[in-house]
Amino acid sequence: MKHVIIGAGVAGVEAAKTIRALDERADILMISADTQIHSRCMLHKFLAGERDEKSLDFTEEDFFEKYNVQWKSGVRVIQVCPQEKEIVLETKERVGYDRLLLANGSDSCIPPVGELRKASNVYGLRNLCDAQAIVKEAEQAENVLIIGSGLVGLDAAYGLLERGKKITIVEMAPQILPVQLDAHGAKSYQRLFEQAGVRFLLGRKACQAQCGADGKIHEVILDNEEKAACDMIIVAAGVRASVGYLDGSGILCDRGVSVDSYLKTSQQDIYAAGDITGLSGIWPNAADQGRIAGKNMCGVPTEYTDRFAMKNTINFFGLLSLCVGRICQEEGDEIVVCEDQRQYKRAIIKDGKIEGILLQGEISHAGTWQYLIKNQIDVSGIQKDIFKISYADFYRVGERGKYEWAV
Ligand SMILES: Cc1cc2nc3c(=O)[nH]c(=O)nc-3n(C[C@H](O)[C@H](O)[C@H](O)COP(=O)(O)OP(=O)(O)OC[C@H]3O[C@@H](n4cnc5c(N)ncnc54)[C@H](O)[C@@H]3O)c2cc1C
Repeated sequence: MKHVIIGAGVAGVEAAKTIRALDERADILMISADTQIHSRCMLHKFLAGERDEKSLDFTEEDFFEKYNVQWKSGVRVIQVCPQEKEIVLETKERVGYDRLLLANGSDSCIPPVGELRKASNVYGLRNLCDAQAIVKEAEQAENVLIIGSGLVGLDAAYGLLERGKKITIVEMAPQILPVQLDAHGAKSYQRLFEQAGVRFLLGRKACQAQCGADGKIHEVILDNEEKAACDMIIVAAGVRASVGYLDGSGILCDRGVSVDSYLKTSQQDIYAAGDITGLSGIWPNAADQGRIAGKNMCGVPTEYTDRFAMKNTINFFGLLSLCVGRICQEEGDEIVVCEDQRQYKRAIIKDGKIEGILLQGEISHAGTWQYLIKNQIDVSGIQKDIFKISYADFYRVGERGKYEWAV
C-alpha cells in the first residue's frame, strides 16, 4: 500500500507515525514545501534569537529512518487528480498513491489594503522561511507595525521585543486576543505587553498603505486618519486553509477541505487532517487529526469526535491562560466569574451546561472542564461553587461497588 502525505507539519508527521505503527510494510512518502520540519508554535523563539532552526524540529533526530518514511522536501504539490490516483508536483513530476493525506495547513492572509500585498517589507508569519525573512529585515528596521493582535501577532511582538524593536500593534477589535479571551482576560496581557514597551492602537483598521520609491511601506494610515510610521510590517490578520491547488480535483471545500467524521474527503481514498480542514487552528487538534486520519488510511475505522470546542493555551510573560469552548457571550448565558490576585476564572453556562471556560493564572482541573464541556454534562444540580467542582461531584458508587457517572 502506498501512502502519500502532503505536508510535513504535525498532522503529516503524526499520520506517518500512525501508519507505520499499523503497517510495517507500507510505503510512506511525505512531500512538503518546507525544507525543514519545524514547530510553528516556536517561531517566536526563533524571532527572539532564543532558538536556532535546528532546535525548532519537533521530531526525533532520526525520524525518517526510524519510521522508514521517504521525504521529498522543498517542493509544492500543484494538482491532485483523483481519477488517475496521482498528484502533480511543481517540477511536473507525477506521483501515484493508493491513499492520500492532505495535511498542508494554512496560508497567511494579507488583506487587500493599499499596497500591502506588493511591498517588499510586509510579511506574514506562518513558516520558518517567513521568520527567517523577518529576522533579516529586522536587522535594518527599528519600528515594526503588526496588524492583528491574535496569537500570531503577539508571538511576533514577543519575539521582536527581544531584538529591541519598537512595536506598534493595530487591532480592529476593541481588545487584544479577541478570538481567544474576554476583554478582562485580554487586558492582563495588554498591560504586560505595554510594560515591555508595545503600543496598541485598538478599535482601528489599517486603511491605506503606499509603497515608497524603495518598494517599501513607511507609514500606514488608519481609519481615524492617524498615521503609523514603520520600517517593516507583519500582517497577522488571519489564515486561510491552503486549498488553492485542489481546484478542479472535485474535492469539496468549505472553510477548509470538507471531511466526514473519519476525516475522509469527498473523493475516494483521500483524507485530510490539521489546519487544512478548517476544523480548528491549533497544534493538539492537528496532531489528533493526523493520528486519526492515519488509522483510517490503514483501514482501522476511527471517528474524530473532538469537533466540539476550541481549546487554547496562552503564555506570555509567564501569565498562563486556558480557554475551552465558547468565549463570546450570547443572549441567555449565565456568566460566573471568580477573581483574586492570583487568578481570573470565567464560565459561560447555558441551560445548565457549561459552554465555555476561561482560566487565567491558575489552570488546574483543566481536564474536568474539558470533560464537562465536551460531554455537555448538566451541572444545574450541583449545590456548590462551580469553580470548586471536580470529577468526584459526578461519580457515585454503583451497585457492584464500582464508580460510575451520577449524572
Ligand atoms: C506563529 C504561530 C504560532 C502558533 N502558536 C500556536 C500555539 O501556541 N498553540 C497552538 O496550539 N497552535 C499554535 N499555532 C498553530 C499550529 O502551529 C497549527 O495548528 C499547526 O502547525 C497545524 O499543523 P498542520 O500539520 O495542519 O499544518 P502546518 O504545520 O502548517 O504544516 C503544513 C505543511 O504543509 C506543507 N505545504 C503547504 N502547502 C504545500 C503544498 N502545496 N505542497 C507541499 N507541501 C505543502 C508545508 O510546507 C508544511 O510542511 C501557531 C501557528 C503559528 C503560525
